[in-house]
Amino acid sequence: MYKDVQLFIDGRWTQSVSDRTIQVINPATEEVIGKIAHANKEDMDAALAAAQKGFEVWRNISAFERSKIMRKAANLLRERADEIAQLMTLEQGKPLAEAKMETLGSADTIDWFAEEARRTYGRLVPSRVPGAYQMVIKEPVGPVAAFTPWNFPINQVVRKMSAALAAGCSIIVKAPEETPASPAELVRAYADAGVPAGVINLLYGVPSEISEYLIPHPTIKKISFTGSTPIGKQLAALAGQHMKRATMELGGHAPAIIFDDADIDAAVKNLAGAKFRNAGQVCVAPTRFLVQKNVFNAFVEKFVAFAEQLKVGNGMESGTTMGPVANKRRIPALEALIDDAVSQGAQLRTGGKRIGDKGYFFQPTVLTNVPLTARAMNEEPFGPLALINSFDTLEEAITEANRLPFGLAAYAFAKSAQVKHALASRVESGMITMNHMGLAIPEVPFGGIKDSGYGSEGGTEAIEAYVNTKFVSQLDV
Ligand code: NAD
Repeated sequence: MYKDVQLFIDGRWTQSVSDRTIQVINPATEEVIGKIAHANKEDMDAALAAAQKGFEVWRNISAFERSKIMRKAANLLRERADEIAQLMTLEQGKPLAEAKMETLGSADTIDWFAEEARRTYGRLVPSRVPGAYQMVIKEPVGPVAAFTPWNFPINQVVRKMSAALAAGCSIIVKAPEETPASPAELVRAYADAGVPAGVINLLYGVPSEISEYLIPHPTIKKISFTGSTPIGKQLAALAGQHMKRATMELGGHAPAIIFDDADIDAAVKNLAGAKFRNAGQVCVAPTRFLVQKNVFNAFVEKFVAFAEQLKVGNGMESGTTMGPVANKRRIPALEALIDDAVSQGAQLRTGGKRIGDKGYFFQPTVLTNVPLTARAMNEEPFGPLALINSFDTLEEAITEANRLPFGLAAYAFAKSAQVKHALASRVESGMITMNHMGLAIPEVPFGGIKDSGYGSEGGTEAIEAYVNTKFVSQLDV
């Protein structure tokens, strides 16, 4: 059922001019399941020309009409969700139910931005001069270049694409080579819904070749990247050199702080669920669990029990609750982090190893009493690895939460209003959710601070990234 994936340029699915392809591997079986077209410079030039042409067309379609087309795309995605979820599981590994949830959630994201399309309001500023109108107008920035990773193949694309389209921009997306078929289905839904040729263009290839060509190119007016902090810094520097606006959604190392007065069962159910979802390959995954002394043992015991009841397997099989990690390089990366932590005195409470030798399956792993010098306490594990340490006072917890250069998501379970207020104001993160999992829905801001990047991909803030503010002063004479 897995189809080979082509580039989408100027409204047509096409091979690369060079005819080169890249293989796609199923992480659960290690089988080659298909191939994708590999863009070269001529393909990128064609996409750039199309994006410029598409921008001129799309910006002149009313926001009302754009919104209607977008909502149609959302409905097509919903109708096709079962089929698309299967493609996603085959290429990415996540359980089918998670893949379907991602697809349906992406349709909701489109609907949100379809509505936002009609609300790119400007304002009138009262003038000092009688008869003058001072107007603040929002205009689309122009063609966008977006770079998205493999952990949420559709969701990472849909936020950028839908915000861009809502604002009246065209877009070139370099989607992930590891997981190309499901984002291609998002593009197909938009095209079938009636988005004109050139407005959306889809490329795959060598990521650095594509970003180094597109970012400086005069056609591109805005870039958006989701991925690791080191690559984000490189691309942000390049964007800066060429004075391009940029949104950067980078890595995280989220603290999850559990206080003595918390509902421990709710904390474990929510946080462990979030930890192992998508085999831990989530930028907002809770990672550093900080548990107050009196409830530490109870929390660890229940957390380990949760990890051990997970059914790790092929995401296509019913009953699987955690799939493989998405690519081979995550396995040595995780093993190295765990070995290093254990060699420095951390206690391995469960897991720690690859499962079998076919498919990239890794045991849900829990380490406790992990020294702050361990690499895992400083680098994003991006896998099914939970690190649980204890703390005594609120001050201690906040100091540890803010120790790292990352500042994406944070979590807390606590009943005391005083504690919740202190965390809300003092934890250095772009987002914090307390006593429930309330992040990453379309209508709320999504983004980080510090080394986790800048800009927001949710809420009313998201569309701001795709519009210029123009001031017009007009005296009626
Ligand atoms: P990586 O840093 O090589 O790549 C991360 C993403 O950036 C990939 O999608 C890749 O295609 C893209 N990329 C890499 N170099 C690029 C370039 N020069 N120009 C444009 N795009 C480029 O890492 P990886 O092995 O794929 O993933 C490992 C790390 O990446 C993880 O540990 C995690 O920190 C980070 N990551 C973060 C997210 C996220 O949601 N923020 C998603 C995937 C990966």
